[in-house]
Amino acid sequence: MGSRVIIIGGGVMGLSIAENCLRRGMEAVVLDKGPFAREASWAGAGYLDLRSASGVGGAFFALCKKSYDLYPEWTARLKKDSGVDPELLDSGSLDLAFNDEEETAIHRMEANLKTFGFSGQWLSPAQAAQIEPSLSPKVKSAFYLKETRQVRSPRLTRALLQVLQKGKVQLRELEPVDDFLIKGRQVIGVRTPKGVLEGDAVVVASGAWSGSLAEKLDLHLQAKPFRGQVVMFRTKPGTLRHILFSGLQKAFTYLVPRLDGHIFVGSTLEDAGFEKITTPEGMEKLKSGAAKVLPGLSQQLIEDTWAGLRPGSLDGWPYLGRVPGKDGLYWATGHFTHGILLSAVTGQLLAQALAGERPSLDLMPFALDRSPHAAAGI
Ligand SMILES: Cc1cc2nc3c(=O)[nH]c(=O)nc-3n(C[C@H](O)[C@H](O)[C@H](O)COP(=O)(O)OP(=O)(O)OC[C@H]3O[C@@H](n4cnc5c(N)ncnc54)[C@H](O)[C@@H]3O)c2cc1C
Repeated sequence: MGSRVIIIGGGVMGLSIAENCLRRGMEAVVLDKGPFAREASWAGAGYLDLRSASGVGGAFFALCKKSYDLYPEWTARLKKDSGVDPELLDSGSLDLAFNDEEETAIHRMEANLKTFGFSGQWLSPAQAAQIEPSLSPKVKSAFYLKETRQVRSPRLTRALLQVLQKGKVQLRELEPVDDFLIKGRQVIGVRTPKGVLEGDAVVVASGAWSGSLAEKLDLHLQAKPFRGQVVMFRTKPGTLRHILFSGLQKAFTYLVPRLDGHIFVGSTLEDAGFEKITTPEGMEKLKSGAAKVLPGLSQQLIEDTWAGLRPGSLDGWPYLGRVPGKDGLYWATGHFTHGILLSAVTGQLLAQALAGERPSLDLMPFALDRSPHAAAGI
């Protein structure tokens, strides 16, 4: 068992792992190159979705479902212990079809969901308009799924940070990890510009930046960033109640309504390196995609726009658990488009592995040296 755990990265993964370690009475230190939780975990929409995972199936769906199931208890506890409400909402979602091709794709998703025991409901345009009066009249049909949830990720990480502070976990921001301390096969600590830090275990949870740390260890890991751009509208609370999904592939757009009336419109999926910027094309895609489903939105105020970097992996499945051939080293990156959803289970599984317990799910499918699985994504 690692009694002092060094966690590299203070996004939702690193913080969730630290919180699970704290609950087991283990000492944790979290280091971040920047301020905590200001990268992908701040930028993300936070919809907790089993729709897309149902198309991947198998161990990936099981991981997503376990995390989805952990959320109510996890966020209730965090809210109680921190006083910050992560705003877990059972919003439900509507997949909107504007033509036959989109309807066929949604039917395929419905069939996938059925294999896992989830059944939604098809709504006519009139039925859809009854529950979402601002919807475009051009919608051909809508598929309602009550299980789709959302959490507000900046609030989730704020709650986690409060709990960690109260638990006296060492939180060291603006301190990048540059290298590892290694003795034989054993990773015994990390090096930062402030000096060296030794521990019994080191966890890499550095999101889209984990590739450069992998190189230091001669690990050949696919770990590149995928940019997502976002537009945040400000509307009256209640303008939209359900999460909306619309469009196929490059035209895919989603709208996530917050309790206070903000509507999060996402997102592009771009292979653009570490260039974390919005572009005129990205903004246009999101604004026109949103106006297509909710025409009134074009008259509403755009409060903010931003971009974030999703941590990519070989196949969109995360890398989780011990690193073969490197004792004391653990990995928790590559959560790609599902990282907010997967943060609850990632914290639990990593803390179990660090404590020498048997993880509650088999980690083999998420091994760093696996062969690629069927790709998971948006
Ligand atoms: C636009 C957008 C929309 C999204 N929507 C959703 C969604 O609806 N649902 C969902 O489940 N997921 C969503 N995601 C994905 C999700 O946000 C990510 O998968 C998740 O936040 C990854 O968390 P992380 O902690 O691994 O990475 P990050 O939050 O990026 O954290 C990594 C941290 O590591 C730090 N770091 C990096 N290198 C070092 C180093 N050398 N030393 C110290 N610290 C270091 C960074 O500064 C950073 O704080 C979305 C992502 C984006 C960008």
